[in-house]
Amino acid sequence: MRISFFLFVFAAVLQAQAAELETYIEVRSGTLPIILTVPHGGTLKPDNVLARRYGVTGIDSNTIPLAEMIIEELEIRYGGKPHAIISRLSRTRLDPNRELEEAAQGDPIAVAAWNRFHDSSQKACNSVMKKSGMGLLLDIHGHRHLDQRVELGYLIKGDLLKNSDAELNADAALIASTCIRDLDKRSPQSFAELVRGQQSLGGLLEFRGFRCLPSPSKAYPAFMAGYFSGVYDVAAHGSRDGGTVSAIQVECPWNNVRDVPENQRRFARALADSLGVYFEVHFGRKLK
Ligand SMILES: [Zn+2]
Repeated sequence: MRISFFLFVFAAVLQAQAAELETYIEVRSGTLPIILTVPHGGTLKPDNVLARRYGVTGIDSNTIPLAEMIIEELEIRYGGKPHAIISRLSRTRLDPNRELEEAAQGDPIAVAAWNRFHDSSQKACNSVMKKSGMGLLLDIHGHRHLDQRVELGYLIKGDLLKNSDAELNADAALIASTCIRDLDKRSPQSFAELVRGQQSLGGLLEFRGFRCLPSPSKAYPAFMAGYFSGVYDVAAHGSRDGGTVSAIQVECPWNNVRDVPENQRRFARALADSLGVYFEVHFGRKLK
């Protein structure tokens, strides 16, 4: 009698915790070979999750509504939704885009939320690989660098982008260390074109009115200028360490992209249009 009572209480606690985690890390399954991860847009600061004591804690404001619009615009064009994994927790409680120790700093609920974020991201990648054979994960962020460009991160440090196209194309070790390693093998274009040519994601977005880095107009960051080249999410779930899902960190500036709903919508449309071309050119398949 007593044991069954304790089991009942234990099960209730587990159930409550699972429901809590579903609120903190929202997981939506999709049908397109695209996965969106949104690690830094959340605002929830539950009392029972300890505040992180070190590391970056700034929120990437408006990246969740921006991601919602990207999902809508993809569905309008291609008849299906991307997979989406969204952290609703404030970055003061969890940073999914870091190794577990720095991300959760020992708090058990934050640890469970981190696991849900990354297990769900990996499941989405596996589902895309099973259904479509290959795919693309976009890790959606926001930055406040002075140069208000969309920064696209492929795990190539800004300094290395100063190398010429010929040097980049000849650097097999560098290419193998990027989160688009598998996509480089599929694309008929050279690695440098894939990263900053007319039909790179930066090139396609610039053609639609959004300045990017890297891109045909900006091959590498200016001296002392900030540039985010990608961190944990794209390293863990892109194709650097295997698999056929490649990944790009998409760092959105505030001005003209995240600031107001009209601009969020314009960017979502431009990105959705760009992705259709990107898939045809580099993956060799239509998104529809
Ligand atoms: Zn971020």
